[in-house]
Amino acid sequence: RLMLIRANINTDCRLALRLMLIQATISTYSRLALRLMLIQANIDTDCRCLSQRWQRGGNASNSCTVLSLLGAPCAFMGSLSTGPVAEFIMADFSRCSVDASQVVWQLEGRTPCACCLVCPSSGTRTVILSDTNLPDVTAEDFSEVDLSQFRWIHWEGRNADEQVKMIQQVATYNSRLPQQQRITVSVEIEKTRELLYQLFPHGDVVFVSKDVARHFGFQSAEAALRGFYPQVRQGAVLICAWAEKGASALGPDGFFHSDAFPPPSLVDTLGAGDTFNAAVIYRLSHGRTLQEALTFGCRVAGAKCGFHGYDAIA
Ligand code: ADP
Repeated sequence: RLMLIRANINTDCRLALRLMLIQATISTYSRLALRLMLIQANIDTDCRCLSQRWQRGGNASNSCTVLSLLGAPCAFMGSLSTGPVAEFIMADFSRCSVDASQVVWQLEGRTPCACCLVCPSSGTRTVILSDTNLPDVTAEDFSEVDLSQFRWIHWEGRNADEQVKMIQQVATYNSRLPQQQRITVSVEIEKTRELLYQLFPHGDVVFVSKDVARHFGFQSAEAALRGFYPQVRQGAVLICAWAEKGASALGPDGFFHSDAFPPPSLVDTLGAGDTFNAAVIYRLSHGRTLQEALTFGCRVAGAKCGFHGYDAIA
């Protein structure tokens, strides 16, 4: 939904969607962001900004954009509610060649919208979001998906109770197939919400954020990986990105790390994590090693920090 902070400053828009599918696929939620570059970010005043624009956002939605730019056919699944925000989002999915046919159109609630204030001197961003009452995608919605279209499905942790049931549907589907035809499942545990931690044992690949790591008292990606690893299923890969420190992973073949690739100047870090996740999934879904995927993820995410949005990734 669109929220105006002040009558003469458009804010940004966040679109909520949760689940996205990459064909090889991905899952999550989406956020539409109108971004303001402020010379001085002072909300309680009438001030000029350098420029402003609308941008579709949200973790899964952003990762779909990046996957599409990297050349992976992908689909997004999540909730939307009809209106001008959803129209913008759907048009942008189309522009980016992201299949949005799995979107669940909700009769209740409004499409969320956020305002992102980006400071050009520091590259920092402040997100002002009003969450809305848009229902999440359910396991029943997910049961309508033709799983044979997908090689990889990624869930952004949201309504985890339902998401576990969706993942169980995939497990049942996989149990009838030979190993090489099975769908790989990845999950992202980004927010510090108790409900989400039940997802740890449900991914072949699990992304855990530095926010969650810090919440549990871990001061580095490696410490977090070693601390959380007993919670993932046997043979799973656990990945933790740590901004300018790069990213690390722990799996059955041991510990891996990639340093970050800082851009010449830091312009926009919004969606760096979503870019990283997409690039890692892209490489892993093409059979590359964990080290190659981590390095590629950091390279693409680092480059993304050097420009606005995602289009320049391609
Ligand atoms: P999020 O956007 O979810 O906060 P992170 O900050 O953990 O995600 O960053 C994800 C990846 O993006 C990092 O592993 C790194 O490769 C890259 N990245 C993020 N910030 C920077 C930065 N300042 N310089 C270089 N790379 C960065």
